[in-house]
Amino acid sequence: MILRLSSLFVRTLREDPADAEVPSHRLLLRAGYIRRAAPGIYTWLPLGLRVLRRIENIIRDEMDAMGAQELLFPALLPREPYEASGRWTEYGDGIFRLKDRKGNDYLLGPTHEEMFTLVVKDLYSSYKDLPLSIYQIQTKYRDEARPRAGVLRGREFTMKDSYSFDVDDAGLDASYQKHRDAYIRIFDKLGFEYVIVKAEAGAMGGSKSEEFLAKATVGEDTYVRCTLCDYAANVEAVDTLAPAPVPYDDAPAAHAEQTPATPTIETLVDHLNEKYPRDDRSWTAGDTLKNIVFSVRHPDGTTEALAIGLPGDREVDTKRLESKLGEGVVFEPFGEADFAARPSLAKGYIGPGSLGEKKPAGVRFLLDPRVVEGTAWVTGADVDGSHVLDLVAGRDFSGDGVIDVAEVRDGDPCPNGDGGTLRSARGIEMGHIFQLGRKYADALGLQVLDENGKLVTVTMGSYGIGPSRAVAAIAENTLDEIGLCWPRAVAPADVHIVAAGKDEAIFAAAERLAGDLSARGVTVMYDDRKASPGVKFKDAELIGVPTIVTVGRGLADGLFEVKDRASGERTDVAVADAVDHLASLVRS
Ligand code: ATP
Ligand code: MG
Repeated sequence: MILRLSSLFVRTLREDPADAEVPSHRLLLRAGYIRRAAPGIYTWLPLGLRVLRRIENIIRDEMDAMGAQELLFPALLPREPYEASGRWTEYGDGIFRLKDRKGNDYLLGPTHEEMFTLVVKDLYSSYKDLPLSIYQIQTKYRDEARPRAGVLRGREFTMKDSYSFDVDDAGLDASYQKHRDAYIRIFDKLGFEYVIVKAEAGAMGGSKSEEFLAKATVGEDTYVRCTLCDYAANVEAVDTLAPAPVPYDDAPAAHAEQTPATPTIETLVDHLNEKYPRDDRSWTAGDTLKNIVFSVRHPDGTTEALAIGLPGDREVDTKRLESKLGEGVVFEPFGEADFAARPSLAKGYIGPGSLGEKKPAGVRFLLDPRVVEGTAWVTGADVDGSHVLDLVAGRDFSGDGVIDVAEVRDGDPCPNGDGGTLRSARGIEMGHIFQLGRKYADALGLQVLDENGKLVTVTMGSYGIGPSRAVAAIAENTLDEIGLCWPRAVAPADVHIVAAGKDEAIFAAAERLAGDLSARGVTVMYDDRKASPGVKFKDAELIGVPTIVTVGRGLADGLFEVKDRASGERTDVAVADAVDHLASLVRS
């Protein structure tokens, strides 16, 4: 196949588009792969569509090879199944909802667990039918709060989602492992750098959960790895190693002190060191217990006040909190009006004395796992300008529960407790596999008869990859200063031929090369335009086909120049050998 630039539906842009915030987005627009249609909604132009389809086909081949079967659900879905699972409400503002002419509610599918569960319930009734893995490659719709970076986080995007169905946990483990192996083959084939990390199962529950992340500084996910062992986790899923309880029989009694004008941790620590110096060392922020109050709105419309108590040297990590609170829950730190409505909370001096579900303010109070029994803290005395010292957890106060949402820092101990420490990096979530368990089967009544003729609830796994996000993530992972730089497996063409010059002979030789390669099954992009060599080279580098062949000055000596787009390495190849050489390069 030959894609001729004289007629290919593409316009490269010289200028950087104003609204493109990350390099891959800028280059995909400039090189003519995508066009914006609406916020978070993009048109795939021929070049972009070619890359997208190649990625989808790599995924499809591996899913088919592992025995999963492809089907296709509608994108336009009725409300009822989502009502039954609770997600019609849980999704909150996250889904696009619409009505038909009769006034019935519909939604544009954000993900299809309900539909998969129901179709299996419809057709299967016996353990003999299982295990089963089915999948689709579908357009999904989510009204993302922050669509970003073009197709990286769209409001319309494609997803391959598969689901496994088993009668028991051992079966689910086996199905999960088969998917995991297939995902490794898929990501190896796609040809870029990725890591597999432990993930939070989120609102979906379940047990095993792992994400495949593309390494990228622009990624929205942060993951950590241990310096000693193979522990790797999304920060959302890091379980903080709780210290052992501390004996407190001899601990001094708690005492409130005047600490005027110390509403921040910094001012408090300075004040303590000046007025209440310790014998052993200086006070640090880590000695203080900071209590942050959030106003939280649940998807069903109910609201609550939630305080989080954590060591004063750490912040609440918004993404960790988001993932612990679950899909569709929104929150923000208490504002003036919230404080005004709860006068028992002394802003800047809030302590456990005013927090807790049973206290008058009615604020749910959750503690960081580091606040273990016997640890002593300096914290607010619930009076303006006053703090309590030597307040001992378990003796003087307790929370309504534990919440592990403090920021994870480089150098924190590995949760495996092996003495290693954590190092962080950024990534883009490309795929997520996890054990759903019986959540949807329970909600929608998916049961089969087991060997003994007894009805059992089916257990499920859920496995997603985003092909449209993959286009951007792979671009981001491989691009350089001059343009896109596709891995061979997903490039829009195998070879980009540039006819550089005005001579008829040059165009004739380039045309022949394009035709011969095409006949050998090579996909050729051929720049046959009457444009200057400079313009053509720039476009070739921008578009990012892995091999660029220049038919130009060397032709007089019987030579083509073959350039590797990624390394920039150039070699001269004899005209007579060129087709064999290039065809074998493409296959390698
Ligand atoms: P994120 O945390 O990035 O929002 P998610 O956890 O919502 O992702 P899943 O629901 O697990 O994602 O969806 C499976 C896959 O679909 C993701 O791994 C990702 O590749 C893709 N995906 C999810 N949301 C989007 C989006 N808004 N745009 C493009 N791809 C997406
Ligand atoms: Mg999401």
